[in-house]
Amino acid sequence: MTDRSGFEIRARAGRARAGVLLTPHGEVRTPAFVPLATTGAVKGLQAAEVEALGFEMLLGNTFHLLIRPGADSVARMGGLHEFMGWRRPIITDSGGFQVFSMGHGTVAEELKGSRAGRRSDGRVLSIDEEGVRFRSYLDGEERFLGPETSLAVQAALGSDVALAFDECTPYHISRDYTAHSTERTHRWLDRCVEWHARHAPAGQLLYGIVQGGVYDDLRERSARRVAESGAGGVAIGGSLGREKAQMRAVLDVATRSLPEELPRHGLGIGDPDDLLAGVRLGIDTFDCATPTRLARHGTALVPDPAARWRVDLTRASERERREPIAAGCPCPACREHTRGYLHYLARAGELTAVRLLALHNLIFMARLMDGLRLAVEEETLDAYADALERGDEPYGAATSAARRPVAVAGARSGSEGGAGGPT
Ligand SMILES: [Zn+2]
Repeated sequence: MTDRSGFEIRARAGRARAGVLLTPHGEVRTPAFVPLATTGAVKGLQAAEVEALGFEMLLGNTFHLLIRPGADSVARMGGLHEFMGWRRPIITDSGGFQVFSMGHGTVAEELKGSRAGRRSDGRVLSIDEEGVRFRSYLDGEERFLGPETSLAVQAALGSDVALAFDECTPYHISRDYTAHSTERTHRWLDRCVEWHARHAPAGQLLYGIVQGGVYDDLRERSARRVAESGAGGVAIGGSLGREKAQMRAVLDVATRSLPEELPRHGLGIGDPDDLLAGVRLGIDTFDCATPTRLARHGTALVPDPAARWRVDLTRASERERREPIAAGCPCPACREHTRGYLHYLARAGELTAVRLLALHNLIFMARLMDGLRLAVEEETLDAYADALERGDEPYGAATSAARRPVAVAGARSGSEGGAGGPT
C-alpha cells in the first residue's frame, strides 16, 4: 500500500502525456489500457495471468457487483482486490451506464465498445433527481442506484478510483434531453464529491464524468464543470458519436477544456487508431470490452488496419491453416497453436478457445500501449502512427517486457517477472 494518491506527468509530446497514476494499491504507468473485470473476473482468466501480461489496473463494475454477489458480501470477503486476487489498482465504474442502458434500450449496442453486455430482462422503474429505481435482471427485485449509493458500493468494494454516478446519453436522444441530463449529472457530481469527502476509503480517487453527447458546447461546459467540481480526475463518457471522426472531435473539445494536472480516463475506447488519437489528445487511461468480448466470439486482434485489426478465426478460410494468428506474438495461442486448431476450438465452442484468444488479444493491447507510452516518452508519436498504419508489429519499439514469452496458468513466478514489478 502507498500513502499518497494522485497523478504525475513525467513526459509530454504535444498534448500527449506519459505519467504515473498513484493509488493506494500501487502505480499505473500511463498511457495505459485497463482490461474489464466487470463482474470481478477478466472472463476466462485468473487475475495473476492478467498481471503477467503487464497490466497494472483492472475495471470492476458497480452495477453488476451490487446485484451479485452484493457489495457487502465483497466487503466481508476483504474487498474487491482480496476477493478476486488482484492486488494492483482497480477502477470501478459507477453503474450509471448500465442502469441507463436498461432505460434507453439500445445505448449499450449503440456506443462504441460498449461497457457491458446488454441485459434485456432488467428494467428501469423510475428516474428522478434522487437516482434510478430499477428491477434486477437476476431476481426481479426492486433496486436503487443514485450518487450516494453508487459511491457507497464503490467504497465497500474498496476501489482505488471511483467514478461519479452519471447518466450516459445515447446520440439518438435530442439535444434538449442531453442538455438537461448533463446538468443533472453535474448536480449528481456535486453530491458525489460531498459524499466522497466524508466517507471514501483512504486514498480513493473520485473521477467526475464529462457528458454532453456530441454537442461541442455541452461537452465544453461539462468539462469545465467537472474540472471545477473538486474531483480528483476526469472520465470522458457517453456517446462519442456515430463515426470515428465525430468521436475524435468530441474528445478534442472535451480534453481542450480540461486542466493539465487531472488524470483523464476515456470510457469505452479500444480500437488501436482510437487509442492513438486519444493519447494524442492527452487521455491517460482507457477501458474497453473489445479484447475480451472478441475472444468469446472467436476473433483475434491483429496488426491489420484494413481489417479493423480483427481476424474472425471461425471463418471457413481459417480451417486447416498451419500458421499462428500473428508471427512473433509471445502469447501461448501463437507460440503453440495454429489458426486451424483455434478455428476448430472456436467453432466447437471449447472454453480453451476463449482463454487462448483472451490471452492473445490482451497481450496485443499490452504491446500496443507499451509502444504508445514509449512513443510519448521519446516523442516519436508520428513514427508510431506510421507503423500502426502500415500494420507493423509491434508498433515501434515495444519494451522487452512485452516481448517476453508469457507465463500462464496461474504461475505466480510469471507475474513476478511481468512488466513493472510490484511497486
Ligand atoms: Zn498471440
